[in-house]
Amino acid sequence: TNHLFDGLLAKGRKAPERRFALMPDGRTYSYRDVEEVSARFASTLVALGLKPGDRVAVQVEKSIEALMLYLGTVRAGGVFLPLNTAYTPAEIDYFLTDATPAIFVCDPKKREALAPIAEKAGAVIETLGVWTSPDASAGSLSDKTLGADATFSTIERSAVDLAAILYTSGTTGRSKGAMLSHENLLSNAEVLEETWGFTQDDVLLHALPIFHTHGLFVASNTVTIAGGSMIFLPKFDPDTVFQYLPQATSMMGVPTFYTRLLADERLNRETTAHMRLFTSGSAPLLAETHRAFEARTGQRILERYGMTETNMNTSNPLEGERRAGTVGFPLKGCELRIVDEKSGERLPTGEIGVIEVKGPNVFSGYWKMPEKTKAEFREDGYFITGDLGLIDEDGYVTIVGRGKDLVITGGYNVYPKEVELAIDELPGVVESAVIGVPHPDFGEGVVGVVVAKEMLEEKALLDQLKDRLAKFKQPKRIVFVDELPRNTMGKVQKNVLREENAKLFA
Ligand code: ATP
Ligand code: MG
Repeated sequence: TNHLFDGLLAKGRKAPERRFALMPDGRTYSYRDVEEVSARFASTLVALGLKPGDRVAVQVEKSIEALMLYLGTVRAGGVFLPLNTAYTPAEIDYFLTDATPAIFVCDPKKREALAPIAEKAGAVIETLGVWTSPDASAGSLSDKTLGADATFSTIERSAVDLAAILYTSGTTGRSKGAMLSHENLLSNAEVLEETWGFTQDDVLLHALPIFHTHGLFVASNTVTIAGGSMIFLPKFDPDTVFQYLPQATSMMGVPTFYTRLLADERLNRETTAHMRLFTSGSAPLLAETHRAFEARTGQRILERYGMTETNMNTSNPLEGERRAGTVGFPLKGCELRIVDEKSGERLPTGEIGVIEVKGPNVFSGYWKMPEKTKAEFREDGYFITGDLGLIDEDGYVTIVGRGKDLVITGGYNVYPKEVELAIDELPGVVESAVIGVPHPDFGEGVVGVVVAKEMLEEKALLDQLKDRLAKFKQPKRIVFVDELPRNTMGKVQKNVLREENAKLFA
């Protein structure tokens, strides 16, 4: 057997006629199509020289064929390695040199720029574009699959074999390649299917990118293992979302999806009444967004927490209270503890420390970074996530931020989230990000970067915070911006803000 592929397709094989995906161009894929097209991709990859364990690096626009390339790679015993579509040729150079894939698949439009980079890294280059019509080429790889065998004897892979290398988002520094095994991915898909109650009757509105764990594994794997189907949209766009929402039962999103839906008057009880589930993750969902969404629609967004290295770790419950501002409980099989960063000692309920996790979902290490891997694991096998959080008396986990974003001012720890929540409550404030920047007296000075909906005075805001926060937590400066810098997954890029404001106290 092929642990991941056979595991994911077990239900779909029993109902090959059932719909797997609907695309906005009107095409559909059944589960039989998934078998056949993934077989064509697998045959093609093997014909191109792919051997078990070889990497297939992929930087292409989102399409159902790109998803079949993922499944075809796994079937052929390869290691799938998706790359953010926003990466520049210089960045692609870094990833290909690091990962040394046997095959690199890119967008037809980028072939010319990327061919020398692929050649230097020793990879065969092929292209995969977006399907437009039966008689237009969708790239060299796509053309080859059309002539390839639609049956393929799937290569055997065990639970511990690598299925994917996924690079982290690079929010805190250079992206690291997380090595994910067949079991890491399959066990998480099984747990999410059960935790979120996915069945073959589910239709997931899929508007996330598929180069990231959220869209590729959390969304696609969970639906596939349940034998359900997806409305596979190229990207998030409110008009298309409202067009297809009536046909969906569920949607997975990043927080910015929800703030954008809230800004749209079509979002109301009637347009969402039939929906079974909305989930959010990849970045913190403001409790305010959670409440506003419920007030408008009657739907409580289910927030969960995960990362590239660990797949999903915690989730709010399907049944029971979904608590705004928390990420819920550890998933079945995932052990989670809060420890003191330095001593590694477990901390009592309610105290803030580093979140550490262990379980079948947790990766085996960073690609070609044995030292870094060693440093991020405890001796008893727990992975040090680098996120800070607490567990309350009821067992709910709350994330207060990343260790790297913690501000240490005059020897005191300031958790940015606490200050952000205080700032966000002030009249006229849309949102904020709190950072620490070098300060001659305090080491770091607390700075609030604020998006306002009207003209606000720095001094007035600082005054209003005086009776809300202890002196050492109060920002020394407030800086106004039109919008916070965010990456494609909606993550605020605090490193950018720290750089921009580095000289504020100089
Ligand atoms: P890098 O590791 O390269 O700096 P990254 O950590 O942003 O980038 P990802 O693996 O995409 O890369 O993101 C995982 C991180 O996203 C988690 O460690 C956590 O900080 C954050 N995250 C995910 N879900 C949530 C959530 N529900 N609430 C708050 N933070 C979340
Ligand atoms: Mg990370």
